[in-house]
Amino acid sequence: MWVLARSLVMMGVKEMYGLVGIPVTELAYLCQEQGIRFVGFRHEQQAGMAAQTHGYLTKTPGVLLTVSSLGFLNGLTATTNATVNCYPMIQISGSSVREPIDLQQGTYEGLDQLAIAKPLVKAAYRVNDIKDIPTAVVRAYRAAVSGRPGGVYLDVTTPCLGAIIDRDEAEKLFYKPVDVCPAVAPSKESVDRAMQLIAGAKRPALILGKGAAYAQVENELKEFVEKTGIPYYSMSMAKGLLPDDGPLSALSCRTTIMETADVVVLVGARLNWLLSRGHGKWAKNQNLKFVQIDIDPQEIDCNVPIAAPVIGDLKTSLDAMLAALPSYKLSIDPQWVPSLQAETKAKDAKFAQRLKDAATASPMTHWTALNVIKPILEANPDVILVNEGANTLDDTRDTITLSKPRQRIDCATWAIMGMGMGSVVGAAVSTGKQVVAIEGDSAFGFSGMDFSTICRFKLPATVIIFNNGGIYNGIGENMSKEGEAPYGDPAPTTLDIRARYDKLGEAFGADTYYVTTPQELDTALKAALASRRPTLIDVQLGADSGKESGHIGYLNPASLQNVIV
Ligand code: ADP
Ligand code: MG
Repeated sequence: MWVLARSLVMMGVKEMYGLVGIPVTELAYLCQEQGIRFVGFRHEQQAGMAAQTHGYLTKTPGVLLTVSSLGFLNGLTATTNATVNCYPMIQISGSSVREPIDLQQGTYEGLDQLAIAKPLVKAAYRVNDIKDIPTAVVRAYRAAVSGRPGGVYLDVTTPCLGAIIDRDEAEKLFYKPVDVCPAVAPSKESVDRAMQLIAGAKRPALILGKGAAYAQVENELKEFVEKTGIPYYSMSMAKGLLPDDGPLSALSCRTTIMETADVVVLVGARLNWLLSRGHGKWAKNQNLKFVQIDIDPQEIDCNVPIAAPVIGDLKTSLDAMLAALPSYKLSIDPQWVPSLQAETKAKDAKFAQRLKDAATASPMTHWTALNVIKPILEANPDVILVNEGANTLDDTRDTITLSKPRQRIDCATWAIMGMGMGSVVGAAVSTGKQVVAIEGDSAFGFSGMDFSTICRFKLPATVIIFNNGGIYNGIGENMSKEGEAPYGDPAPTTLDIRARYDKLGEAFGADTYYVTTPQELDTALKAALASRRPTLIDVQLGADSGKESGHIGYLNPASLQNVIV
């Protein structure tokens, strides 16, 4: 175990997230002894969410430690989610003795973990021999962080964890790998092809994705946008990479870009469901051509043809495009940017009016609460915002303007619920920054117990819960007949409109607030940010605030209205 702890130190690992038990407890002790901060959780899935957030924010793999069988499976959810989102992380799990697993003889926590992990992660390895541990850690690290980043599984068998080796002999095994994340350069032809297309465009636009936020290319993008004058649309977690309210930001013009741009440059963004897979509104746009800058050649053409793929690391690619720029003359229609700016101005005014109209609603709605939170967070641009829910997610994303990169962590590509408390911990631990989470009451339920981890580690984090008493809202109706079972049970979407989440915070020693008015919320949030102490704010909304699936109602197979006659 000491060899494994030392190998992690050699790779520069400073934090480990996990939950101990047989057979990895001593490993966590030895990691602490070696100077690694061990952040212990109440559920492995949340420890994994912390590790993936760590990976996204630092460009180095977050490390998750789990026990065998169920602990492994709980953690694997996060490692898989990291893989889907292209975040680097390494899940290290203890596993039982091989022989009785392979012969299925019913050993303690016996499960063929490597086989289960393989199809769900970027890479999976097993280490059986103590002498192989340093190599295994280096391989896992390289696999997580190089090329398209992802989740890596490292299976360490119990005999290997318990093996003993002479210290002098062990010292000879360690090494520091050279260049763990080589910057891959795009070919000159691909850069020229892309620049030619961009130069000929009358209505070009950039779509910035969280791959660009991950790659930390804000300076290159700023230069590219300033020199070309091309407007940009930021995907959810790319918000703030360039200022949301900058003169070339087209955040409010998504449909216009889809329907009328002639060249769209995808920068670390995928044409997946979040961009209608290149179909839907895009289909109206006959003249559109895509440039796509991405590290992964297999991403290209996965939905619609890409006219100019640029395969390489984003920084190297943007540098190459910037270097080529002086040899091209751009042909942007002089009406294009002003028309987007006019649309932005009109839409922003409408949005501001919506917030104003909700400002004094009683009981509060999502918009009433966000109207209070917006100016406070915008005055504290270094606070990292964690956000999940349905309406809580969509409305918060639309309301809060971000001006700095990597300030927003949300449920991302899979739009999953249950990343909240782990992400808060991962963000606070890996950056040292203050964190505010805005959580729907349902979303909070998936990870609520790990609010206690925020408290035990005294992290500067505030968790705000929008309680509307349910999934989407709290007004779902049980459709069974009166007097017949299951009449009287809550509807499938109904939770607890009268729950006092603040009492949960109290149990773990947090500062807590239960607020029913905008004034109370204002006071609570300002006090929380000033104190930098673990804080839980329970915001009481009306049960009718919120609609099914927020912005993505169309994804439900059929609305209830169509089902009920
Ligand atoms: P969004 O959800 O914001 O659209 P995605 O996660 O769908 O973003 O897309 C991110 C893309 O960024 C992925 O295709 C990934 O391969 C790419 N990517 C990640 N890191 C880099 C990098 N360093 N250089 C180039 N592309 C990258
Ligand atoms: Mg709710």
